[in-house]
Amino acid sequence: MEFGSATFGSDGFSSSGTGKLVALLGDSSDHNGHLINTNQDNTLVVEGVPVCVAGCMHYCPIVGHGTQPVTPVTIKSYHNGKLIITYGAMAAAPCNAVIQPPDRHVYVE
Ligand SMILES: [Zn+2]
Repeated sequence: MEFGSATFGSDGFSSSGTGKLVALLGDSSDHNGHLINTNQDNTLVVEGVPVCVAGCMHYCPIVGHGTQPVTPVTIKSYHNGKLIITYGAMAAAPCNAVIQPPDRHVYVE
């Protein structure tokens, strides 16, 4: 399935603005941290960058927050059985950073 420059490996994607923005490797959070891995086989990509799925890790530069797994907020969109990470997903405690990907016009529910 393709939308413009994006290539997808599963159903449930939208370029029409419904759902939440997908998060990719390297995207940042409200703590100025970033996603340091994807927890997938890197077959699901947007603009050539792998999409993050449940269990990916977020590094936070704030002292004491460290590197924590990210919990998805999507409920319908999976890649190889793992929920896709989007805007609003949260790093685990004690960090609790909110993932804030830029607007690439690629959304999932
Ligand atoms: Zn943090």
